[in-house]
Amino acid sequence: MAISYRSTRSTAPETVSFGEALLRGLAPDGGLYAPVTLPRVDFASVFREDAFPDMACSVLSEWIGDEIPAPDRDRIVRDALDFPVPLAPLVSGGDSCWRDVFVLELFHGPTLSFKDFGARTMARWMGYLLERRDEKATILVATSGDTGSAVADGFAGQRRIRVVLLYPGGKVSPVQERQLTAARPGVQALCVAGDFDDCQRMVKEAFVHPAYAAARLSSANSINIGRLLPQMMYYVLAASRFAGEKPWFCVPSGNLGNLTGGILAYLSGLPAAGFLAAHNANDFFPRYLSSEGAAFAPVIRTLSNAMDVGAPSNFERLRALLDRPALRRLIAAERVADDDTVASMRRVYEATGYVADPHTAVGLEAVRRRRERGEMQGPVAVLATAHPAKFPETVRAALGFEPEVPERLASLGAEGASVEDAAPSAKALRPYLGIR
Ligand SMILES: *Cc1c(COP(=O)(O)O)cnc(C)c1O
Repeated sequence: MAISYRSTRSTAPETVSFGEALLRGLAPDGGLYAPVTLPRVDFASVFREDAFPDMACSVLSEWIGDEIPAPDRDRIVRDALDFPVPLAPLVSGGDSCWRDVFVLELFHGPTLSFKDFGARTMARWMGYLLERRDEKATILVATSGDTGSAVADGFAGQRRIRVVLLYPGGKVSPVQERQLTAARPGVQALCVAGDFDDCQRMVKEAFVHPAYAAARLSSANSINIGRLLPQMMYYVLAASRFAGEKPWFCVPSGNLGNLTGGILAYLSGLPAAGFLAAHNANDFFPRYLSSEGAAFAPVIRTLSNAMDVGAPSNFERLRALLDRPALRRLIAAERVADDDTVASMRRVYEATGYVADPHTAVGLEAVRRRRERGEMQGPVAVLATAHPAKFPETVRAALGFEPEVPERLASLGAEGASVEDAAPSAKALRPYLGIR
């Protein structure tokens, strides 16, 4: 059985396979691909598997079907998701607001954020499909944070895919810059003399301008359904660990891709009590859930910069899956400003000894507020989206010390950095895309 996918903007019956949706990224009408019908997954039997990659293989088979033959499909998933996914209680016993609150650590992949799940899996699927079609592609991505390094690392070494990565010079942190510019086969990092909006504009221009058609550009941000499906898997893993009790999930959110992964899992039958979307000052989604007329807003820069999104692109996909009353029944949302984020890092560390990165801290604060109001009883899994070592300055300001640096970050860039300077104009991309 294969699921088919359709653009969120399409009223026509045209549908595409998973592979087509994956390779296209954005639909030709500008919409996002979403499943036409949702598979019903037999989670009781999935939960009987104890290894994470086994669970992932059985669930993803329902969403992808046999377009990629089962042995290859499973091999790719096992190879991509080969790092640990710990789920740990914040406190042992006790009577605090953290009782039954668990952190689901999604930062044990190579680039230390949850984006490794989607980027690594998607890169391998794309590489496989291009090989079969005897085609090539170039991934063009503008990044201000974690997406770029996850994509660069995930796609590095895929023979049929070249990655060109744009970041705003002087506007990413030293750790981020080291992650973005580490020399990787098939990856070209460009340090743009401009801001993030310039980088995004260059990418958009290249995508629509006919001169760039020959470069076969593709995108790897969370508009791509291929990044979202692997992100269902840690929700599945967490739910399997709460024997019979339905957990709440708290998701630090920006573009709403991570949350959409959880909602897709839920709609295919995953037992969950509900979701809490935790946003920073970029609070379009909390405003939307509380009042009908909320509008997108310009980006506000915050300490949790990977969530600095004014117009979340996956909102369109969420709305295609569920109407506003249904979203409100299933999802609560909180807005956590920077001073509360820092206070949350401090409060959690003092109460539990846990060092949270600023994104995870937004989630923890959202849960604390709900718990204070007597809501969200029972187990809560807070998605820990990044390793605190990615944000040493913020951790030091909040806690007075810098977090321990994992070996894979410490040794990053040992093979040297590879980066070129670029003017803030789409023309500057041409040499890197093989266009004159
Ligand atoms: C990307 C990112 C987020 C936001 O995820 P979305 O899917 O964009 O909602 C949260 N935390 C971290 C660390 C991230 O890198």
